[in-house]
Amino acid sequence: MSHSIDTTCVQGGWQPENGGPRQLPIYQSTTFKYATSQQMADLFDLKASGYFYTRLQNPTNDQVANKIAALEGGVAAMLTSSGQAASFFSVFNICEAGDHFISCSSIYGGTFNLFAITMKKLGIEVTFVDQNAPAEELAKAFRPNTKCVFGETVANPAGYILDIAKMAKLAHDHGVPLIVDNTFATPVLCRPFDFGADIVVHSTTKYMDGHGCAVGGVIVDSGHFDWEQHHDRFAGLTEPDPSYHGLAYTKAFGKGAYITKATAQLMRDLGSIQSPQNAFLLNLGLESLHLRMPRHCSNALAAATYLKNNPKVAWVHYAGLPDDPEYPLVQKQFRGGLPCGVLTFGIKGGREQSIKFMDSLKLIAIVTHVADARSCVLHPASHTHRQLTDEQLREAGIPPDLIRFSVGIEDPDDIIADLEQALNQI
Ligand SMILES: *Cc1c(COP(=O)(O)O)cnc(C)c1O
Repeated sequence: MSHSIDTTCVQGGWQPENGGPRQLPIYQSTTFKYATSQQMADLFDLKASGYFYTRLQNPTNDQVANKIAALEGGVAAMLTSSGQAASFFSVFNICEAGDHFISCSSIYGGTFNLFAITMKKLGIEVTFVDQNAPAEELAKAFRPNTKCVFGETVANPAGYILDIAKMAKLAHDHGVPLIVDNTFATPVLCRPFDFGADIVVHSTTKYMDGHGCAVGGVIVDSGHFDWEQHHDRFAGLTEPDPSYHGLAYTKAFGKGAYITKATAQLMRDLGSIQSPQNAFLLNLGLESLHLRMPRHCSNALAAATYLKNNPKVAWVHYAGLPDDPEYPLVQKQFRGGLPCGVLTFGIKGGREQSIKFMDSLKLIAIVTHVADARSCVLHPASHTHRQLTDEQLREAGIPPDLIRFSVGIEDPDDIIADLEQALNQI
């Protein structure tokens, strides 16, 4: 039976049997026992489904993956050790040396490095595009060997909003899937599949966990993309895999093809699993995600409104402010009409004053983390994005004075009081 997103947050995934444990058990086991050699052989050949080694699958992880698949409205999901592993696997599952893909330039700094530097070393080339360019302009980035388009629902840290329906149409017109990093929105606020995205990835380290206790990631498949319609382009999914005695994922697993390949091939070979202990913590976070997200948003709106009216603040960017150019898109794509709890702003006087302000904060902490129950700030030009050149920073939509403010779920009056006392120091 399918329930609303809020109910799925609390009760999705693990379903105890009569007399079974109410809370999701942690299967702290590397391996699983079978009665016969043949049963084990069938698992290795993907002829039967079951657990045999936690590097491939673990029951705790699968229950949490099932909950997230249900939250996103997808058919299957796989947990990964981090958001980085999820982003990498999501692209590498359909790209190999000699292939090309397109990514929005306004993305998380770690993903930018992964795509521009590390994947290039693997022979996979990326073209970065401005997601707000007209569709005719964006169409020019496609090549015969283009395999997917990648973007972020809400760009970290720039805060720009991806027009998912526009990007999905563009990708589909060129016969490739749209992969969306939905970390900042979470399915509570936006479900990219409802707007045509094909694959969703998350850094579960952020809002999904929400308490800053476990690094993790997830890949979710909508099951919508028809790989067989583009058989030759996605030969890795449609043609026999020699490492599984010639099994073809689309033929053997239908709508489960993409996630099965990611598990059976990439996880088997690259081993970036989430520990069952971390999956348990992630599940605890998910149980209150639907309560935390609206509070993050209303606190962010209150803080953005306060900062906008403070004469010491040069600029504020939060797409949930009614005069923001992306506000209409937020109304269309986001439940509750607010995008997330993260906003950006600059202080008059530039970089130097921004740093003085941050050092004066008391309640709001300086941490690398974002999207956490506790309010925190970060200066991307000196922290997360310090590897980028000024030009790359500009391309990613990050002015050097930008402060990323992740508004927590504390009392908004206390958050604003801390902002005020720190602004009074400059
Ligand atoms: C943090 C983050 C990542 C990377 O996730 P990790 O869990 O830190 O590996 C990817 N995308 C976005 C949008 C992020 O905020």
